[in-house]
Amino acid sequence: MTCIQCGGKQTTKRENYKYTACGLSNVTLIGVEVRRCAKCGDHEVVIPRIEELHRVLAAAVVRQSSRLTKDEIRFLRKQLGYSGVDFAKVVGVSAETISRWENGKEKMGSSAEKLVRMLVVHTQPTRHYPIETLATITEERSPKPLGVRPKGNSWVQHELEAA
Ligand SMILES: [Zn+2]
Repeated sequence: MTCIQCGGKQTTKRENYKYTACGLSNVTLIGVEVRRCAKCGDHEVVIPRIEELHRVLAAAVVRQSSRLTKDEIRFLRKQLGYSGVDFAKVVGVSAETISRWENGKEKMGSSAEKLVRMLVVHTQPTRHYPIETLATITEERSPKPLGVRPKGNSWVQHELEAA
């Protein structure tokens, strides 16, 4: 393959790739194809089935027991397909509150958080979401590293090696 930036030659390797472009800082795609240009250092990552990937990530986010971070709130809103204004109407708060949640100026309350989790579960096909999951949410606000790897036509969560 040829680099679109400089026309140099790309080499292709399977790598574990930090997928910060999705808006979440803790996601690693395991064993995905990354094309790197030796000449200019530019790279591109090949992400198959990206809609399915985002669905799997959303399901993983609402399953975790730590509280939603500002990045996760924004990610889930986008995954639900809401603008800030529409999301505000659904959750029953002002649009200003949504933006304060998403820029970290205000912490989302636990009832609103549970509502958002249930919205995600109900609008995305989720295989199994025991309601007890909502009772296991702690006050912790630091999500654990989240690894996902392509499998067949979909993506599956995959334990990451400790860094
Ligand atoms: Zn290049």
